Amino acid sequence: MGRIAQTDGLTEVQADILAAVRTFVDKEILPYATELEHSDEFPEAIVAAMREMGLFGITIPEQYGGLGESLLTYALVVEEIARGWMSVSGVINTHFIVAYLVLQHGSDEQKRRLLPRMATGELRGAFSMSEPGCGSDVAAITTRADRDGGDYVLNGAKMWLTNGARAGVVATLVKTDEGADSVYRNMTTFLLEKEPGFGTHGGITIPGKLEKMGYKGVETTEMILDGHRVPASSILGGPTEAGRGFYQMMDGVEVGRVNVAARACGIMIRAFELAIAYAQQRRTFGRQIADHQAIAFKLADMATKVEAGHLMMVSAARKKDGGQRNDVEAGMAKYLASEYCHEVTTEAFRIHGGYGYSKEYEIERLYREAPFMLIGEGTSEIQKRIISTALLKEYRLRG
Ligand SMILES: Cc1cc2nc3c(=O)[nH]c(=O)nc-3n(C[C@H](O)[C@H](O)[C@H](O)COP(=O)(O)OP(=O)(O)OC[C@H]3O[C@@H](n4cnc5c(N)ncnc54)[C@H](O)[C@@H]3O)c2cc1C
Repeated sequence: MGRIAQTDGLTEVQADILAAVRTFVDKEILPYATELEHSDEFPEAIVAAMREMGLFGITIPEQYGGLGESLLTYALVVEEIARGWMSVSGVINTHFIVAYLVLQHGSDEQKRRLLPRMATGELRGAFSMSEPGCGSDVAAITTRADRDGGDYVLNGAKMWLTNGARAGVVATLVKTDEGADSVYRNMTTFLLEKEPGFGTHGGITIPGKLEKMGYKGVETTEMILDGHRVPASSILGGPTEAGRGFYQMMDGVEVGRVNVAARACGIMIRAFELAIAYAQQRRTFGRQIADHQAIAFKLADMATKVEAGHLMMVSAARKKDGGQRNDVEAGMAKYLASEYCHEVTTEAFRIHGGYGYSKEYEIERLYREAPFMLIGEGTSEIQKRIISTALLKEYRLRG
């Protein structure tokens, strides 16, 4: 481990957790990741070990059986895991967001019932906002929940559910008719509980897994809701929270953005490690390629980008942990880390020459994984919208 992407000021507990995770990644993830990824196989043994380590409950308070750790600890753990294999971090990412939503916005009954089983990983969480017709434009959601006595009946199609099959609870954002046009009043988050697996159960169908260019191993699915009936108590926070879904989900997405920044950091740390090693092994024109200044300068650029991404990610996590809103900081961290991740993996790929194109080299996998960081939890354009809107409001000229 070199000096890049280190974090100052960690507690002893945080340092111990990270050391344990790093050893786990080096021994149990990295040696198997590329083969599992190429065969698009779910990493059962790795996930079982992560359950044993308590990683599914890392941010869930001890009273519900979790480790009660901060967003920063979680993000640093995710960075380590994504350094091993980004897909594995995907198994806990939507789960973490749903646990966060239940903790922040759930009713006492929902917390008592769901969080202990989520902390062990027995119950997994998925998070569903996107639809076939919209991703960035959340207000364009068309899936509806209509009141029928004390129940709601849900109809519509959701798209891109990471962990959609294995999840037993899906935090799902839909339109409800609270008699208002504003997204702050006409959208509701339901905690849809379902049987894990593919197929139809009640009014919920998980058709099959979507084929992707990367991010393999973990399933991403559609979800069809066809007259799915749930009691009003399935609303996140209970019946009184109908119409508050947009606000709740945006809160979840804010921590989700720190989490994607951390995944991007993990991928680019690994890409840098591979590139700096290869640059000292490969020889051209009588010298190692690291001795060509063009290659050495690429390494310098890459390391600087890794360091900058890591620092911004840590800073955004600490702000949220300190109880402050981090919408702008999380947006900046996600934007910067994902763009840098894309650039760093591209440069690492180029340093590998023709071998970068070979499936025998790990960089081939990282090169396909990086682009998803530009998209998940909001594209770069959407981050720039968030950052600029907030700053124009704050720096508005007066008078
Ligand atoms: C592998 C994978 C896993 C995913 N997992 C989940 C999940 O678990 N849960 C979930 O809810 N979603 C998930 N998503 C969906 C993801 O969040 C969306 O794909 C993403 O938000 C972008 O939405 P879109 O694909 O509809 O693109 P669009 O919104 O159609 O955007 C298309 C392009 O237009 C640009 N654009 C859009 N609006 C503007 C604007 N106002 N100004 C400038 N440019 C703009 C975008 O930046 C993009 O370049 C996943 C996606 C993938 C690929």
